[in-house]
Amino acid sequence: MNNHHYNFNLESLIRKNILRMDPYISARKEHKSKQKYIFLDANENSFGSTLSFFNSYNRYPDPFQKKLKERISKLKNIPISNIFLGNGSDEIIDLIYRIFSRPEIDNSIIFPPTYGMYEVLGNIHGANIIKIPLTKEKFQLNIEKIKETINKYSKIIFLCSPNNPTGNDLIKKDIKTLLKIFTGIIVLDEAYIDFSHEKSFYTEIYKYPNLIVIQTLSKSWGLAGLRIGIGIASEEIIKWMNKIKSPYNISVISQEIAIKALENQDLFFFHIKNIISERKYMESVLNKITIIKKVYPSSSNFLLVKTNFSSTKLYKYLINKRIFVRDRTKILLCNDCLRITIGTHEENKCLLNYIKKYSLSI
Ligand SMILES: *Cc1c(COP(=O)(O)O)cnc(C)c1O
Repeated sequence: MNNHHYNFNLESLIRKNILRMDPYISARKEHKSKQKYIFLDANENSFGSTLSFFNSYNRYPDPFQKKLKERISKLKNIPISNIFLGNGSDEIIDLIYRIFSRPEIDNSIIFPPTYGMYEVLGNIHGANIIKIPLTKEKFQLNIEKIKETINKYSKIIFLCSPNNPTGNDLIKKDIKTLLKIFTGIIVLDEAYIDFSHEKSFYTEIYKYPNLIVIQTLSKSWGLAGLRIGIGIASEEIIKWMNKIKSPYNISVISQEIAIKALENQDLFFFHIKNIISERKYMESVLNKITIIKKVYPSSSNFLLVKTNFSSTKLYKYLINKRIFVRDRTKILLCNDCLRITIGTHEENKCLLNYIKKYSLSI
């Protein structure tokens, strides 16, 4: 491994209880095809489920999701040993806290306004959450402030690019700077990367042993209901995640359906193309409406939009019209901002008409 960190030592970052513990050994280490064997090792119901159609839901899923990982491995051109699958990205974030962050001792650094789960999960784990706001309007990292703030208890830095709820990419050079100077773990959440012109960072895991890239099937692949998050990192980090995850963290159905969905890459690209063209359409129309003060540039499947007055009033008006958007006015640097997910053309037209109507009525 081309290790740029002179003083990076993964084991020294792992919590002692995790280092020492013995993992749960699931009944079936090798997940064999269900037909050829008699399985009396996992206390499953051999008679089957109560569903009337044939299925194998009476059997536990493959704990390491080999088939699904093989597909993702092919798609991303990255070995299976560098891939971890979680029950949503949120499970992966949760596991990262458990592995690295000593409760009540260590801190994690986040950059608001950003995805809320970094703080929520940190609080659950007793991590001290240090917040360093992104710069105003451009929503970029304040590298000098970050350098000043990092201390020996700083274990995890959470970066989100493109960032939620602001929609912008973080500057690549800044991400690299942090990867080089920080001796703890850097989590780079790329939930929206497929909507961006920027390239994913996951190819950099060989260069930066402290990097964990997180992606998800919830957004660009349209599979939020399946709950599948993807962690990409060094083999060593992936091993620690596998050691402590719950054995059957992704259901049979989720695995099967994800494998099917990932086959249809043409439709995936088609959806992305449509979402990006709808994003441009929304941006251009919103910019012409008087109550819209600013539409922030977006590399994601949503727009952050600043209104000239109370965003909450517009938010409530839209709910009355049976349209849900996200009111972000209480979030740092997002005063009077709505976060609007890009919908289908019909949905977007409907939303824009109501915003125009409202704009004329006040
Ligand atoms: C939506 C989103 C996720 C996805 O979470 P899942 O648990 O995989 O559905 C992760 N990070 C960010 C920033 C998000 O906005």
